[in-house]
Amino acid sequence: MNERNSAYLFYKPTDELEEKVQSIRKLGRKYGYTLVEDPKDANMIISFGGDGAFLQAVRKTDFREDCLYIGVNDGRVGFYTDFSTNDLEKIELGLQSKNIEVLNYPTIEVTVDGMKSFHCLNELSIRSNIIKTFAMDVFIDDTYLETFRGDGLVVSTPTGSTAYNKSLNGAVVDPKLKSMQLTEISSINNNQYRTLGSPLILSKDRELVLKIIQDGNDHPIIAADNEALSIRHSHEVRIKVSEKEVKTLRMKDNLFIHKVKRSFL
Ligand code: NAP
Ligand code: MN
Repeated sequence: MNERNSAYLFYKPTDELEEKVQSIRKLGRKYGYTLVEDPKDANMIISFGGDGAFLQAVRKTDFREDCLYIGVNDGRVGFYTDFSTNDLEKIELGLQSKNIEVLNYPTIEVTVDGMKSFHCLNELSIRSNIIKTFAMDVFIDDTYLETFRGDGLVVSTPTGSTAYNKSLNGAVVDPKLKSMQLTEISSINNNQYRTLGSPLILSKDRELVLKIIQDGNDHPIIAADNEALSIRHSHEVRIKVSEKEVKTLRMKDNLFIHKVKRSFL
């Protein structure tokens, strides 16, 4: 791997943040990092803000595999943000590379109606955009599983398992387990419609295919992490665990289990 020495800072400038970012720029220079103006020239991309900002930084820079992504939160730390603008000492420790570790986070790859595929780091969500339910046939590989009718479905990555997925009673998944998880948003279950009803975790060798039933309400909102796609009308969504992973940095003493405990217990 090339030497990590050129960093791009990803943030929405506000007066308050600007000041904190300045002190981090200073720290970067002290340790010999070049701060570049174009993310294309960077081999480190540093987001300032919460997990939502980190997701945006990864998305806006196109899930680069030759880049290390680092999340710096303003205040508390989250799932993708191991550092805080309030703790310069820890950032300084992090810059001395013996205290840090590179982690690879699995992503999922999605294709809608055979168009160019895209990636998600948290999840793909597909939801009715009106008050009525909509329906999808769910296939695993080429095998029909069920017909879902309700508000929507979410397919999450392991690191996304603590986000939307968790609100839907999905399982928290160890990021070392390359997999994807399907959860339901308010499925109808009666004599006419029946779904599995429990979260379903699939291995990296599976493909999940959602076929939107064209019954009038066939314009659901499809979102990749915190961004809605502009696709208005879709028939078929294919999802699999991607070969592409997001590389990030964490302090050696901040394990996944620490993050789960800190956030939820
Ligand atoms: P948001 O609506 O402002 O954030 C929702 C919350 O989820 C924030 O507290 C965010 O943390 C946190 N979060 C994001 N990724 C997480 C992860 N991997 N593990 C644990 N918590 C996580 O929107 P946002 O900040 O842009 O985040 C987008 C995410 O929100 C989506 O990808 C989806 O997972 C989630 N979401 C959840 C629901 C729900 O639970 N009902 C509904 C819609 C979307 P920060 O404050 O640090 O950003
Ligand atoms: Mn149609």
